[in-house]
Amino acid sequence: MQNIKEITKRVLGGKISAVETVNEALRVIDEKNKSLGAFTAIHHEQAIQRAKEVDESISKGNQNLPLAGIPVALKDNMCLSTGTTTCGSEILRNYQAPYDCHVASLLEKSGAVIVGKTNMDEFAMGSSTETNSALTTKNPWDLERVPGGSSGGSAVAVASGMTPIALGSDTGGSIRQPAAFTGVVGLKPTYGRVSRYGLVAYGSSLDQIGPFTRSAEDAATVLSVISGKDDRDSTSVDRPVPDYANDLDQPLKGTRIGIAQEYFGEGLDEETRSAVNQAIDTLRSEGAEIVEFELRHMKYGIACYYIIATAEASSNLARYDGVHYGYRADNPDDVIDLYSKTRAEGFGSEVKRRIMLGTYALSSGYYDAYYLRAMKVRTLLRRDFEAAFEKVDVLCCPVAPTTAFKLGEKLNDPLAMYLADVYTISANLAGIPAVSIPCGFDSQNLPIGLQLMGSPFSEGKLLSVAHQYQLLTDFHTRNPE
Ligand code: GLN
Repeated sequence: MQNIKEITKRVLGGKISAVETVNEALRVIDEKNKSLGAFTAIHHEQAIQRAKEVDESISKGNQNLPLAGIPVALKDNMCLSTGTTTCGSEILRNYQAPYDCHVASLLEKSGAVIVGKTNMDEFAMGSSTETNSALTTKNPWDLERVPGGSSGGSAVAVASGMTPIALGSDTGGSIRQPAAFTGVVGLKPTYGRVSRYGLVAYGSSLDQIGPFTRSAEDAATVLSVISGKDDRDSTSVDRPVPDYANDLDQPLKGTRIGIAQEYFGEGLDEETRSAVNQAIDTLRSEGAEIVEFELRHMKYGIACYYIIATAEASSNLARYDGVHYGYRADNPDDVIDLYSKTRAEGFGSEVKRRIMLGTYALSSGYYDAYYLRAMKVRTLLRRDFEAAFEKVDVLCCPVAPTTAFKLGEKLNDPLAMYLADVYTISANLAGIPAVSIPCGFDSQNLPIGLQLMGSPFSEGKLLSVAHQYQLLTDFHTRNPE
């Protein structure tokens, strides 16, 4: 697949129209989606209509379109007034959002064309894209394996060449882990870098929207488009948005790369360990300086995350009551019965488990023991990172302890599924940016991801290290058969 720069250059230069570009993407999506199940909805007519508008705008002389004619897929938890926004849930199966999320408006302003919505774990709760009972999304590298999750559909859209860009959301790893499992780049920006307006909330203090692309360079281009202050999300930060793609040529020489043994302990697959170590050697051989440090509270990360995320989820999901949104149960006896029947019938079992865990952690008598303590641990973890980033520029580690697992393998073992997030959740707890880039393949030809993390708002540095690494390697250019 061509990179974004090449496509937009051709579209802006009149060599190919946005309509032709989008038509070709729709053709590939129609062909591949049957076997891969990446898209929950494909917006054929609206996409073509939108592409026509982009062409018209170009014909009137508008060249200020950094994503001219680029087809984009959105995870189905981002509100669009076109079609439905289901979050992979029965409770929102027919839900039609009344407005577009902020990132969708920014993408369109930059000339991109949204072609459809992608599959996800129900309400983004999961690591395999299996908890939406309506559709199975498969890993293009091995159709018997999961694509990772919860933004699995978006990862597959990019990995299989359906669209050059897809957006996902990352609460505890949902962009980075599926990116690693499918061999693409996945970036979780700093908390506050990108507006969450119109992103259906899961864990509001953790959620962040970010791109899937084939290269770090493309991720940089997209990040510049979607970043920035938005008055409708009070947690979005008012800070200048750099032209990230223009800033990728920073030398590796002298970059301080941190490694912490906490990310290389028990449970890490040997092939993943060796691929990540090799990537670190590659960076070192280019002049990066490797610095070891300790993250003392990292071991509490999973426990801490699964209290805070479920607590926030239980509160966020209280709004699905059969009155305000989506599904409503038939023939309730009274209003309490309406709530309980609607929620019992509308939510899947993982979402119910999270609501119960979260409600418990917040309940009187347990609040101090669970939620409050988890918040204190979160502060300690954040301080660990702050201390680390005084000594290093970028932290380097695996994205996930294994490569893509089999469909169904962990579905009935929630704890095993939660443990798969061990290396990704701490970036969300600390609010820092992190990117996953391809760094190898295991003996079964499954992609392996390398994770780079940095201090708040250091996306430019992360992407430049990722870009320099991609100039030296070709893992990101390989395609599944
Ligand atoms: N797997 C994690 C969870 O289930 C993270 C999901 C996400 O980032 N949305 O909560």
